[in-house]
Amino acid sequence: MKEDIQPKYYQAKVTCNCGNEFVTGSTKEEIHVETCSKCHPFYTGQQKAAAKRGAIDKFNRRYGIAQN
Ligand SMILES: [Zn+2]
Repeated sequence: MKEDIQPKYYQAKVTCNCGNEFVTGSTKEEIHVETCSKCHPFYTGQQKAAAKRGAIDKFNRRYGIAQN
């Protein structure tokens, strides 16, 4: 019998330091982040986007957030 080694996939509740909460697919049940799409400079455009290119991918991978 082959065991199922797939990680469980949750609708994770993500809580940000800014107080924003949202739900995303993740292998973790709860995620706490320091920045989110509401307050991250990349999204708000307060920093030069070119310098931050790739940062979001790393961010998403770090927290196991699936890209839609
Ligand atoms: Zn935030």
